[in-house]
Amino acid sequence: MIARSETGVVEGTIESINAHDLEHEVLTSYEVRDRYRVFKTDEEEVGVVEGEAGWLEPEKCIDLHTKLARDAGADVRLGAKVKGFECAPEGDRVRLNVEDGGVMEATKVVFAVGPWTSGLLGDRMKDKLTVTRKVLHWFGHGVDGDKPEGS
Ligand SMILES: Cc1cc2nc3c(=O)[nH]c(=O)nc-3n(C[C@H](O)[C@H](O)[C@H](O)COP(=O)(O)OP(=O)(O)OC[C@H]3O[C@@H](n4cnc5c(N)ncnc54)[C@H](O)[C@@H]3O)c2cc1C
Repeated sequence: MIARSETGVVEGTIESINAHDLEHEVLTSYEVRDRYRVFKTDEEEVGVVEGEAGWLEPEKCIDLHTKLARDAGADVRLGAKVKGFECAPEGDRVRLNVEDGGVMEATKVVFAVGPWTSGLLGDRMKDKLTVTRKVLHWFGHGVDGDKPEGS
């Protein structure tokens, strides 16, 4: 991870690393450039290296979680869009109204609808959620040779 040292990102990363007792190195801007020549870091930036770090392939993770959920008895309905929800008349269950006209009921519901949260939960969450903008940027690596698979 590379970021300006004064931002909370570096502090947060190190806090998390310490909380989980992970081996890591903090590199100065010069050390980052020396070791990883593809990065042209500013003087104010530092690098945090965690040798054991890796990445997850989301499609595989989602497939596996879906399988484990089904194995544990979950009724997985892919592509079922929830239009709205209400308390069932009995009062102890939540009723979800699905776009195809179906209804699902449960005693507890976890909404994990990402950026669609305000659309689905509307006024119920307006005092509890703060939406912030996150700017993303992609740039070429400038290295000759074959592109990695999928790029
Ligand atoms: C371009 C990009 C690159 C990223 N790269 C990384 C990365 O490298 N590493 C990393 O950790 N994070 C990365 N992220 C962030 C990461 O993707 C998100 O933090 C993560 O996907 C959030 O997961 P979520 O389950 O909360 O929401 P989402 O992944 O947004 O999932 C919400 C789901 O709810 C469904 N949904 C919405 N409304 C309804 C409804 N009414 N009824 C039923 N279903 C509904 C949607 O179809 C969607 O499937 C990246 C994000 C973007 C945009």
